Amino acid sequence: MSKKSVAKEAEEILLATDMIQLGARLQVLQAETSLSYDRLARLYREVKGCSPPKGMLPFSVDWFMTWLPNIHSSVFYSIYRYIDTNTPAKGSRALVEAYRLYAEQADGGLGTPPGEEPVLSFTRAWMLIRFFDSNLLQLSYCERCKGGFIAHAHDPQAGFVCAICRPPPRAGKTRKRRTASAGAAEKTTVSRARARKAAPVDAADTASGAAAAPRGVLSET
Ligand SMILES: [Zn+2]
Repeated sequence: MSKKSVAKEAEEILLATDMIQLGARLQVLQAETSLSYDRLARLYREVKGCSPPKGMLPFSVDWFMTWLPNIHSSVFYSIYRYIDTNTPAKGSRALVEAYRLYAEQADGGLGTPPGEEPVLSFTRAWMLIRFFDSNLLQLSYCERCKGGFIAHAHDPQAGFVCAICRPPPRAGKTRKRRTASAGAAEKTTVSRARARKAAPVDAADTASGAAAAPRGVLSET
């Protein structure tokens, strides 16, 4: 077994702690440090007071192309590039510093309600940089505002207009619509549950019918 530098390990623990505080998933910490899974999971519980979430990371490149995520990601990526090239913070340190700055901005003016996670999560910000590193994405420059915006690699640059200068017609209406449709869905569930509750009364005379009904209700919830 190779001997590990104590100073290097301390540095990695500090980095992992910063990332956990910003919302990093365990897979991100594993990729960015050489700390073992068990130590990272323990650190996560110490910092967050709960177990790390399980499941796959968000893999979609297309997510970065939708209207609001595209604006948020482009802001974040510009900050990241600036910090990475112009300050001593490089790589994962630049990611942490850039994400902190982005989250501050998102809280103030990019439309994140207070107390909610910004549109671009830390894990997605990390994925974004990896997508750039593997040449899946590029910055396209808007011909109106001259800003750099995230686009698919090899997309034609000529005549590109960004999502701020030319927002889609339904921009900003998604949240309202989602709340409305969620409300409608709730109502249907309630009325369905009511219908189901009524059913056992009709089926009460047959023993199997009475037994089957509650199981059906349970499996739906
Ligand atoms: Zn523009």
